[in-house]
Amino acid sequence: MTADRPDALRTFVAAHKFRGPLPGARLIVLGAVHGNEPCGSIAIERILQELACGELEIIAGQLTLVPVANRLAYERGTRNGDRDLNRNFAPTSNPSDNEDFIANELCVLLAEHTILIDIHSFGWQSSPMVLLGQDSSARDPQPFAFACHEEALAAHLGVSRALYGWLATNMQRAHRRGSSIQYCKGTTDYMRSVGGYAVTLECGQHADPLAPELAYNAVRNALAYLRLIASKTPQPKQEIELLRVYEVIDKNSRKDRFVREWNSFDRLYLGDAVAYRSDGTPVLSPADGFILFPNTNAEPGTEWFYLAEPDPRALRKRGVCSKGK
Ligand SMILES: [Zn+2]
Repeated sequence: MTADRPDALRTFVAAHKFRGPLPGARLIVLGAVHGNEPCGSIAIERILQELACGELEIIAGQLTLVPVANRLAYERGTRNGDRDLNRNFAPTSNPSDNEDFIANELCVLLAEHTILIDIHSFGWQSSPMVLLGQDSSARDPQPFAFACHEEALAAHLGVSRALYGWLATNMQRAHRRGSSIQYCKGTTDYMRSVGGYAVTLECGQHADPLAPELAYNAVRNALAYLRLIASKTPQPKQEIELLRVYEVIDKNSRKDRFVREWNSFDRLYLGDAVAYRSDGTPVLSPADGFILFPNTNAEPGTEWFYLAEPDPRALRKRGVCSKGK
């Protein structure tokens, strides 16, 4: 624990639990896993008020709301307290930093649930999206049994773009570098590892006034879709663009540079020059698709940008999975 943190209470995770009289899904919603992403906290506080005044009532299953997962980072207005909570997310027997303590509490909470919605936002302008887990198609050697449940939930959150392949791509990078695969894993990966399913909801730019509204509507829709509240089942979004993240390119040198200023989801075509290495060698797009999360300020040896390709498959909108499909 560092000197600016005299009160151990800062690592205390406040969770609000509501149980319905009927059996049902067990949903947990996290806000502010990253402290400078307030939209989830605002949305969750609004839901808490509605539950307190009786405007909302949980009739089945369990709902657990965590408005601020990372209190220290939230109070500082920074992404992290001591480190990124959404990396290397797992229980540890020797917790040594703020995020270790939080992860230990959150992992116990997550394991009590079957579904996680983890609400985030971006540091740059971007349309909202939902991140799914493993690829459930034949490309994935170990299909995730609940992939279609994730897709169906994602289709009811009100966003029109869904991404998958994040973990697989980062694990490939870890393999190439001989670094820890565990580092790549965040809250949703942990939820899947304990038998549940999970989505990361990215609500747009941190300060976008529409982001809390999007987060709120997504949680309300999820409560109705999962039948935790008595409400008409929401309609799934009909047109959802599905993208597969398939590659991450590291910056090698401070002199590596982009050919131009890129924004996430700018189009790329096969052979397009994306960047130049320090010796002038172009880094070419290996396929038609999109650039994601370009980071001009990346340090050498860290992730510089990601590549994604469109998946023409339609997102499954009903959570009826046959095993392994
Ligand atoms: Zn985040």
